[in-house]
Amino acid sequence: MPNTPDILQDGKKYLIGNYARLPVVMTRGEGARLWDSDGKEYLDLFAGFGGCILGHCHADLIRAATEQAKELWHVGNTFYTTPQIEFAKAIGRHAFEGQAFFCHSGAESNEAACKLARLRGQQGGGKKWKIISLHKSFHGRTLAMIAATGNPAYRAGFGPEVPGFINVDGGDFAKLEAAVDDETAGVIMEPIQGEGGINVYPADYPAKVRDLCDRRGITLIFDEVWTGCGRTGKWFAHQHFTGDSGSVVTPDIMTLGKAVGGGLPVGVMWARPDVAKLLVPGTHGCTLGGNPICMAVARMIFDVIERDGLVRHAETLGNRAVARLRDEKKLRDKITEVRGRGLMLGIELKNAPPAGFVERGLARGVVLNLTAKNVVRLAPAINISGNDWETGLDRVIDTIAAEQ
Ligand code: PLP
Repeated sequence: MPNTPDILQDGKKYLIGNYARLPVVMTRGEGARLWDSDGKEYLDLFAGFGGCILGHCHADLIRAATEQAKELWHVGNTFYTTPQIEFAKAIGRHAFEGQAFFCHSGAESNEAACKLARLRGQQGGGKKWKIISLHKSFHGRTLAMIAATGNPAYRAGFGPEVPGFINVDGGDFAKLEAAVDDETAGVIMEPIQGEGGINVYPADYPAKVRDLCDRRGITLIFDEVWTGCGRTGKWFAHQHFTGDSGSVVTPDIMTLGKAVGGGLPVGVMWARPDVAKLLVPGTHGCTLGGNPICMAVARMIFDVIERDGLVRHAETLGNRAVARLRDEKKLRDKITEVRGRGLMLGIELKNAPPAGFVERGLARGVVLNLTAKNVVRLAPAINISGNDWETGLDRVIDTIAAEQ
C-alpha cells in the first residue's frame, strides 16, 4: 500500500479539486469509528454528512448487500423488482400514505419533487410554475437546485439562473405569504435546516405553511434529505410539527437522501398517491434508480432502526447532549447556542474559528463539521453507543474550548 503523502499527491493529481478535502486518507470504518492510512483512530460524529446512519460497515447491511448481489444487481425500471417494493412498504410503515420514486441523491429527489409540483400546477391548463424556498436552505447542486437553495454563494459563476425559484426568509410567515401569487406551484423547505446552520423554525410555522398551501392549491415539499430516517428523534422530522387539531403537519411530497442509503447512493421522492399519479410513463425516470442492491440495504436500514429502537435512542442521546453542552463550563463564553433535535445538533460558536478547526478536531480524534462559518455540526450514526457519544462530546468540547 502506498504511503499517505503519495496517496495525497495522487489524489490532488487525479481528482477534480471541487471539494475542500482534509489531508487525511480514511481506509477503514466500523460502527462509529474510522481509521486513517496511518492507523490513527477517530470517533466519527458526522457519519459521512449523515449518510452512514447506522455507522460504518454494519453487519446487517453487509449481509443485505451481499445476499442481493448474488441474486440480481440491476435490470432497469421496465420490470418490477421485489427489493424496491419491500423498501417502499418499509417507508410506508412510518410515513404518510404515499408512493415512491427512486433515484441516487438528495438533489435528484428534490428535482423530481419540483417537477411533480409543476406538473400538478399545470394540470387542466393551470399556469403554476414557481417554487418558493427559504433563505439559508440547501437543496442540492444541480442547476435547478442551486436556484432553489436559499444562498446565492452556491449560484456564483453558474448564471443565468434557472428561472422560477424564489427565496424568502425562513420562519417569517408573512414574507412567505406575500411571495405567493397565482403562479406559485410549490413550496420546498427542510423541516430543520442542515447546511444553513441547524436552524429551527417557530413552532407554528410549518402548520401555517401547510394551511397556506391548502388555501392556494400549492404543493408542499418537505426536503428530509438531512432529517429523515430517525435522525431527529422522529422517523421524519416533520412529525415533530402539529397543527391546531393536534395532527401532524404532512407535506404532499417528502424527499429523502443521505441516510436512506446508509452510505450507498439512494434518493427517494415519496408523494401522496393522488399527486404521485401525475407522474405517468415518460414524465420522469432514472436508469439506475431503485437498484436492487441499494434497495435491499435501504430496506434493511429501516428494519434495523425498528428492531433496535433507534429513533428513541437518537432522541435520548440528543436530549442528553443538549443539556450537557448548554451546562458545560468549558464552553461558557465560547458558544452562543445549542440547536437541533435528536442526533442532528448545531453548536453556534461566538466567533468563527480560524482555518483548521476541523483538523484540530481530528488531531483530538473526533470527526466533526463546521457549517455556516461558526456552527459546529454533529450528526453521528444513530446507533452510536452512549459511551462513544460521551467520549466524542468530550473531544468536541475540548476542541472548542481550545479556540481563542
Ligand atoms: N437537501 C438537503 C437538505 C441537503 O442537506 C442536501 C445535501 O447536503 C441535499 C438536499 C443534496 O443532497 P445530495 O448531495 O445527495 O444531492
